[in-house]
Amino acid sequence: MTKLSNRRPSMVTLISQALHSLEPETGAVVPSIQPAATYARDENYEIRQPYWYRRDGSQTTAQAEAIIATLEEAEQSLLFSSGMSACTAVIESLPTGTHVVAPKVMYHGVLQQFQNYEANGRLSVTYYDAGDLESLVSAVESQETALVWVETPNNPNWEVTDISKAAEIAHKAGAKLLTDCTGTPPCMTRALELGADISFHSATKYLNGHSDVTAGVLSVNHVDKHWEDIENIRKLQGTVLHSFDAWLLIRGMRTLFLRVEKSSSNAMAVAAHFENHRHIELVMYPGLASHSGHEIAKRQTNGQFGGMLSIIVKGTEQTAIDVARYCQLFYPATSLGGVESLVEHRKTVSGDGFPVHPRLLRLSIGIEDADDLIDDLEQALAKAIDE
Ligand SMILES: *Cc1c(COP(=O)(O)O)cnc(C)c1O
Repeated sequence: MTKLSNRRPSMVTLISQALHSLEPETGAVVPSIQPAATYARDENYEIRQPYWYRRDGSQTTAQAEAIIATLEEAEQSLLFSSGMSACTAVIESLPTGTHVVAPKVMYHGVLQQFQNYEANGRLSVTYYDAGDLESLVSAVESQETALVWVETPNNPNWEVTDISKAAEIAHKAGAKLLTDCTGTPPCMTRALELGADISFHSATKYLNGHSDVTAGVLSVNHVDKHWEDIENIRKLQGTVLHSFDAWLLIRGMRTLFLRVEKSSSNAMAVAAHFENHRHIELVMYPGLASHSGHEIAKRQTNGQFGGMLSIIVKGTEQTAIDVARYCQLFYPATSLGGVESLVEHRKTVSGDGFPVHPRLLRLSIGIEDADDLIDDLEQALAKAIDE
């Protein structure tokens, strides 16, 4: 083994220690929170670099950004007050008339935003079938595309798109590739390395992991004019992540690797248990060998498959809602990626205009005991179907 003094500590060590952020004045092993909204000029009336007003960014937020940039091996990361404000900054940065391609089934907030920008005549959007590269090729070829939006695995069907191949398709057409890999955080998928130009994550989910912050992050490994425009939108819209939230996010990220490992093994146990269950029509989880994206996921998500899966319950739409209602350990709540397991009847949330199976329940598997989670679903299914 190489001595540590001769090599860089591994990613797990760097992130667990929040980049070893020892405070020189005090020796504190966790960073302090700096909440100032404004900063005084120096004796020459010059701005003290790098901060002068919090809408541009702050020290605590920059510390969180440095951790994510390390995870992503990015040149720069920018944190926003939510995933949606990060996505909206990218969409807003596109000149009027730009052609974008996006999946037909994706996170409903982003889809709504594309539909709004289309309705206002700001953008034209062609939608492709998520996980289907041929459909992506035809969508890109239909016009002069500037941005390809890939969500992998996509919400709530967990179809997997090969990021390297999507990057080839986008780049051949002269377009940029943006990936939303919120379901598989950067300890699993390093999108920039695979060819994405902009990597997006809702940090509300796995990166924070404790359901107590909303945040979004964009990362690039090549800072250009477009990136500066996006940063300027964040500044002018005032959507930078607040220092307190950045601090919670730093604390959450220190256990990222552990949490994701446990969520992944729990989700695998739940998926395997219910795959051929008499009350379940289909389990959608890339970790199952029967899943169409399994082989790509194996390569792309670092041998783990994450904590997100969906199940199609037998019976009626009401049966599915009942299962969600009858769970005692799973919280019947939206969101994902926290330490506690959540169950959600997705159609109730995304509404009628969104293509989602009426009997689909989305499960965000946390870090509890896997057998407890399985038992909870068993009793809810029995109550909803057998009784
Ligand atoms: C949650 C989520 C978003 C939006 O992020 P917020 O932090 O809720 O604003 C975008 N994409 C995916 C895949 C998500 O799960």
